[in-house]
Amino acid sequence: MSINISKVRNDFPLLQKEVYEKPYIYFDNAATTYRPLQVLAAEEQIYREFNGNPHRGAHYMSNQTTVHVEAVRDKVQQLINAPAREEIIFTRGATESINLVAYSFGEAFIHEGDEIIVSEMEHHANIVPWQMLCERKKAKLKVLPFDNSGRLMVEELEGLISDKTRIVAVTMVSNVMGVVNPVKQIIETAHQHNIPVLLDAAQWVQHHKTDVQELGCDFMVFSGHKMYGPTGVGCLYGKSKWLEKMPPFLGGGEMIDKVTFDKTTFNTIPYKFEAGTPNFTQIIGLGAAIDYIHELGIENIEVYEKELLDYAYSQLQTVQGIRFFGETEKQSGVISFLVGNIHPYDMGMFLDKMGIAVRTGHHCAEPVMDHFAIHGTIRASFAFYNTNNEIDTFIQAVKKVSAMLA
Ligand code: PLP
Repeated sequence: MSINISKVRNDFPLLQKEVYEKPYIYFDNAATTYRPLQVLAAEEQIYREFNGNPHRGAHYMSNQTTVHVEAVRDKVQQLINAPAREEIIFTRGATESINLVAYSFGEAFIHEGDEIIVSEMEHHANIVPWQMLCERKKAKLKVLPFDNSGRLMVEELEGLISDKTRIVAVTMVSNVMGVVNPVKQIIETAHQHNIPVLLDAAQWVQHHKTDVQELGCDFMVFSGHKMYGPTGVGCLYGKSKWLEKMPPFLGGGEMIDKVTFDKTTFNTIPYKFEAGTPNFTQIIGLGAAIDYIHELGIENIEVYEKELLDYAYSQLQTVQGIRFFGETEKQSGVISFLVGNIHPYDMGMFLDKMGIAVRTGHHCAEPVMDHFAIHGTIRASFAFYNTNNEIDTFIQAVKKVSAMLA
């Protein structure tokens, strides 16, 4: 089976839109994807049919909401092949998931002089929380570099690891360069030293099959809004052997076992990490997004998007003076480039006026910009609802703007 593109496009109302009286082309999917009607319907259904605060009430509506929220936990477990449903924690997004681990793992396992390794191509979300932890605990952040093609220099990991290394946190796919990292190799190397690994799957899980058991990672994070689901919801997968030893991140309702003014004891996982009323509407919407991905088939998505990416690369190569950032054997989802000396903001602004949405700037990954000594790139990022025709229009527009601004 392959993707039925006209049917798929009809499921996404925003794809039918015009901007500046031009058909709208959305190539900023790495920032956030659009949501299909099925997700919008799921969210509306909650408010119309069974709105209730989950996990607390004895009444019908509360129970209905609880059943639906917990069913999504099962869906996430299946999506990433986690061994146990308690190892899935709902958060507000990838950023919050990383902050949770940095804070809570940090409280339990990081001490003065310890070391944390991240890669040079991380999104700020996978740098800053670790820096904050290092500051708090007087620990040290070490950086695994990439070369000029964007390839992560995994051969240097062994040399970076010391008997003080406590965790490695790395992205599966660079949100700037689209480089797919050899995370299995990273995990194997780290595990030989009993060091856990956190994978940032924010740019992976919507494009490829995910199997945390096969990978062996200790933590994985991702956001709902980048996988056709609602904003304000994300997930953390963590091995129970870690989660059980980590203290809570936020305190409040539902994460407790017993509260007195003398002492509070905490709930079991995953609830220990889910303080307060969860984003139940968004969680249930995320469930509908996962169903949608299943319906299309992640293997079909992968094949279709690879063809799209290959086509975009081949066509962009015909643009005079183009320079790509990220040219490795395995690329996914995004293409970053500059044309001659044209400022990325100028290119982005003109493309916008032609009805084409791309991202320009540092993409929340300033160390990647520093590596190449640039201020920003133009980034086109794709989803299964994009088409070769859209790419053709985009290439013509890039050529037109390049000629104008050269
Ligand atoms: N990690 C990567 C690789 C990303 O691309 C992003 C967002 O662009 C994030 C983390 C943060 O995601 P969010 O802002 O949804 O928490």
